[in-house]
Amino acid sequence: MGLGDTLREPYLGISEKGSPEAPTKVLISLLNTVDREKLIRINQFINEEFKLQTFTKLEKEFLPISAFDWKELKYNEELILKRLDDRIASIRDNFLAIIFIGELNLIKPDNSRDYIYIVSTNTPEDNALKEIGRKLGSKLGLSSCDHECLMNPTSSSLTLCNSCKSKLKKG
Ligand SMILES: [Zn+2]
Repeated sequence: MGLGDTLREPYLGISEKGSPEAPTKVLISLLNTVDREKLIRINQFINEEFKLQTFTKLEKEFLPISAFDWKELKYNEELILKRLDDRIASIRDNFLAIIFIGELNLIKPDNSRDYIYIVSTNTPEDNALKEIGRKLGSKLGLSSCDHECLMNPTSSSLTLCNSCKSKLKKG
């Protein structure tokens, strides 16, 4: 499914409650304006590398000013997520992961959640893709990898190695 088909997909119109299979959909939601090209690239990356379907909610979520750290001049990811957790409670089970993206400088939490997280597009594009890829990979049961691979923290590769790919297929 192309991005054009999903961009206007209503947030709450997506429901497969009671579906016995594990969810294979990823919801991408915006926190502020994100370059359309970046958005398309992120969607393609998730579709192609993990064979997951993405839905993009373009209506932006409210960024609470109370989550802004005036000393660091960055948003505190944990404080934003606490608020967003309530917002997604009713749809959480429909998605493998819910990724909020935005042009933000973030203070990252020590213990991040695995189903909802924020990825800043304010960094080189490959960093954002790598972060998304590694989180989705571990959510799908992949662990750190020693090969030239997306799951290798020291590798700059944005693709999964054959070994990781075959693990995904089995799982
Ligand atoms: Zn690998």
